[in-house]
Amino acid sequence: MKRVAVFPGSFDPFTKGHEDIVLRGLKLFDEIVIAIGYNSQKNKRYFEIDYMEAKINETFANIPQVSVLVYSELTAGLAERIGACAILRGLRNTTDFEYENSISQVNRDLNDKLETIFLITSPELAALNSSIIREVHKYQGDVQKYLPYAL
Ligand code: ADP
Repeated sequence: MKRVAVFPGSFDPFTKGHEDIVLRGLKLFDEIVIAIGYNSQKNKRYFEIDYMEAKINETFANIPQVSVLVYSELTAGLAERIGACAILRGLRNTTDFEYENSISQVNRDLNDKLETIFLITSPELAALNSSIIREVHKYQGDVQKYLPYAL
C-alpha cells in the first residue's frame, strides 16, 4: 500500500521553505499531494491560485511522486477522499506550534485514521515567510531567491 501524505497550505506564494518540506517528506512517504486551499481567514490571495498551481507543477516536473491540486473543503475530508494517511506540515517556531497544535487535534478528531507529521524547518529557511515575500514583491523588491521557480 502506497503511503500518501497531503501537504496543505495557502502557498501564497510557494517558497523554498515549502519545497524543503516536500523533498524531506519524500523520505517518509511514497507520494505527496500539495493541496492549495482557500483559507477562510485569508480569502484574498496575492498570487492567483491557478498561477501558483502551475508554478508548483513546474517545480516538481521531474518528481512524479509529487502532485498538486486546489481544494476548498476540510483538509481531513480531502485526505480521506484521496487516500492519504497523513497531513504533512512544517514547523518554524512556537507561533507555528500553537496554531498547528489545535488544528492537528481537530483534524484527528474529524478523521481518526489521520496523523499530522511535522518537520522542523531547515535553519537556513526558517525565516522564510510567504507574507513577507508578498510585501517585498508588492514594493518591487527581488524575491526570486526565496522561490524554487522563476516568477
Ligand atoms: P497556511 O496558510 O495553511 O499556514 P502556508 O502556505 O503559510 O499555509 O504554509 C503551509 C505549511 O508550510 C505550514 O505548515 C507552514 O508552517 C509551513 N511553512 C511555511 N513556511 C515555511 C518554511 N520557511 N519552512 C518550513 N515550513 C514552512
